[in-house]
Amino acid sequence: MLDLRTELTRLHEANLYRRRRISNSATGVRVQIDGRELLSFCSNDYLGLANHPEVIKAMQDGAARWGVGSGASHLVSGHSAAHHALEEELAAFTQRPRALLFSTGYMANMGVIAALCGRGDFVFEDRLNHASLLDGGLLSQARLQRYTHNDAESLNQKLSAHERGERLVVTDGVFSMDGDIAALPELCKVTQQHQSWLMVDDAHGFGVLGKTGGGCVEQFGLSIDEVPILIGTLGKAFGTFGAFVAGSEDLIEFLIQKARPYIYTTALPTAVAEASRASLRLLQTEGWRREKLQSLIQQFRSGAKQLGLTLMDSETPIQPLLIGDNGKAMAMSAALQQQGILITAIRPPTVPDGTARLRITFSADHSEADVDMLLEVLARETVKS
Ligand SMILES: *Cc1c(COP(=O)(O)O)cnc(C)c1O
Repeated sequence: MLDLRTELTRLHEANLYRRRRISNSATGVRVQIDGRELLSFCSNDYLGLANHPEVIKAMQDGAARWGVGSGASHLVSGHSAAHHALEEELAAFTQRPRALLFSTGYMANMGVIAALCGRGDFVFEDRLNHASLLDGGLLSQARLQRYTHNDAESLNQKLSAHERGERLVVTDGVFSMDGDIAALPELCKVTQQHQSWLMVDDAHGFGVLGKTGGGCVEQFGLSIDEVPILIGTLGKAFGTFGAFVAGSEDLIEFLIQKARPYIYTTALPTAVAEASRASLRLLQTEGWRREKLQSLIQQFRSGAKQLGLTLMDSETPIQPLLIGDNGKAMAMSAALQQQGILITAIRPPTVPDGTARLRITFSADHSEADVDMLLEVLARETVKS
């Protein structure tokens, strides 16, 4: 039997032990942790919609109208008119014929990959893809091939070496731990040349990228022929909870028949779907949130460059500071917390060994003064270290 105590001690010694901080405040850029107010730079609520009065009201009214629990899975009796309306609105938003709600992005990714691929098939994934995409590949029992990060030529070589079975290419739209954007036009070209599927998980792009928040496919102007399978999550820029797949009529009908994480789980609360409908409206109409976010990102990047900090090649709200050593990343995070700033250290296996980092994220709810304060504290801490 596995000796749990020994395993836990080993994690401690490698500075890989994970702890939850207990928050006593609503989602936002100012959080209460351990009785202390901190300025947070580590939420994925990029547009500040999680605590928006209209979104809250939609959820309250939704609960009053529909009740709390949906009572059953979508295929039994849990699929409400509000779920259905949200799917239609997400289809229109992504300019795809249909969209299908899932309870979480993790489940959407597992469900889609395992429905499309099985034994004898191939799943090609970027080395830095999100864990849920890699787990979907493993669950499918297809052969998992990982290509060099964001490298269409590496993908091309892998596809050329495996010219049989179903072939599904899977990539993050915005890489969740580095913040860079997938080279989608090049990846589309290669997948089309090899007549394989392309699936893009744009968990961090929706709401943030593109003129109307349509994410990386809007930014690059990619049609359904180029990106036939598009994943979005609702727990990040939407500020709510859940996820969706957008694609053709046939893709969605096939997933309803075959995607086990869709079929065998309770439909997410209808009130949450109502909240997502409200945030979808805000996300599209309030373009100022995207503009403000971009200006905060620019302010941070130019300030950080002046301080001589090494930034990653990211134009998104994910702006990691690479530290390398796990212990050092933890110590930096603790020192920042001492000075009123909350940024969690991200360590392996979430990121590759030796690349522990402080994953800084921005929200439209931050002010210029907040970014100045972050830069000031970073300046003090990096001089010390
Ligand atoms: C957060 C995330 C997910 C998981 O979505 P949840 O709805 O939180 O389960 C999937 N893919 C990527 C790229 C993510 O960043």
